[in-house]
Amino acid sequence: MLLITCPFCGPRPELEFGYAGEAHVVRAQDPRDVSDSQWTEYLYQRSNVRGVHAERWRHAHGCAQFFNALRDTTTDHFVATYRIGESRPDAAVEAGR
Ligand SMILES: [Zn+2]
Repeated sequence: MLLITCPFCGPRPELEFGYAGEAHVVRAQDPRDVSDSQWTEYLYQRSNVRGVHAERWRHAHGCAQFFNALRDTTTDHFVATYRIGESRPDAAVEAGR
């Protein structure tokens, strides 16, 4: 069974979690200030990384909190998890060093 470490609760079974999209996608302060193509990019364009990817997850059947995770999409290994508002862990963490 895959365990995901919730930053609030600790390791829990993956069945308690839900994927919530790519992390660090920044919404414009005022959507009226951006062009249609910039708004379309915000809504629909995602990086679709092969390798370590920053993702947003929710501990839906636990504390219900959203958090970010670095997950290797080729191995399904969770490299790190961190709270919303915290900066993405550095490259050393991503490489498992
Ligand atoms: Zn939790």
